[in-house]
Amino acid sequence: MNIGPHTFAEFRRLTEQFHGCAAPGILLGGRMVTAARAALPEGTLFEALVETRSCLPDAVQMLTPCSVGNKRLHVINHGKMALSLFDKYNGRGVRCFVDASRLGPWPEMRVWLMKEKSKEQQDSALLEQEIEQAGTSVMALADMRVHESFLGKKSSGPVVLCSGCGESYPREHGDKCLFCQGETPFVMWPRKTKTL
Ligand SMILES: [Zn+2]
Repeated sequence: MNIGPHTFAEFRRLTEQFHGCAAPGILLGGRMVTAARAALPEGTLFEALVETRSCLPDAVQMLTPCSVGNKRLHVINHGKMALSLFDKYNGRGVRCFVDASRLGPWPEMRVWLMKEKSKEQQDSALLEQEIEQAGTSVMALADMRVHESFLGKKSSGPVVLCSGCGESYPREHGDKCLFCQGETPFVMWPRKTKTL
C-alpha cells in the first residue's frame, strides 16, 4: 500500500530527509494523509487540520500542498494522532484518527502510542515493521466540518511602524509591537545589530 505516490521504503527515505529521522508518527501519518485524501472528492481544494504538533504537520507538508507557510495547514495542540482534510470553501471533510481499539495485533504500536515505555526501551525496528504491515487497519475515518472561523480569508489589518523599535507590525497588536510590549520569548543586543 503506497503512501501518496511513494512506496513505504521511499517515503521512509523522504521522511529522513525532511524530518531528520524516520519518525514513526510520520510513517503512520503519511498513511493517514493518504487515507483522508482518498476520501475527499477528486479535485477538492482542501486545507488540513492536525491535532498534534508532533510529526503529523510534517506528514501533511510532505504529501499535500498544505503548509504552515501558505496557511493551509492548521495545527492545534491537543496531543492526538488525528488529522482532517477539508474543503477550503465549505469546510466539509474527513477526519482520520488512530483507533486504539484496533491495535490488538500490533503491541509495539500500542506501546508507542500510549507511551507505555520510554523511547529507549521501545523496539523501533518492530514498531516500524508493525506500522508498515498494519497499513490503514488501525485507523478510522469520520466525516467532519471545520468551524467557520477556519474559512475565508483573514486579514490582520493595517500595518504600522513601531515607535519603540521602528519595525513594522500589525496595528491591531496595540500601541507598540509585541516585542516592545515584552511578549517575545527572546532578547537581543541592539549594539550588535549589523547592516547586511
Ligand atoms: Zn517594537
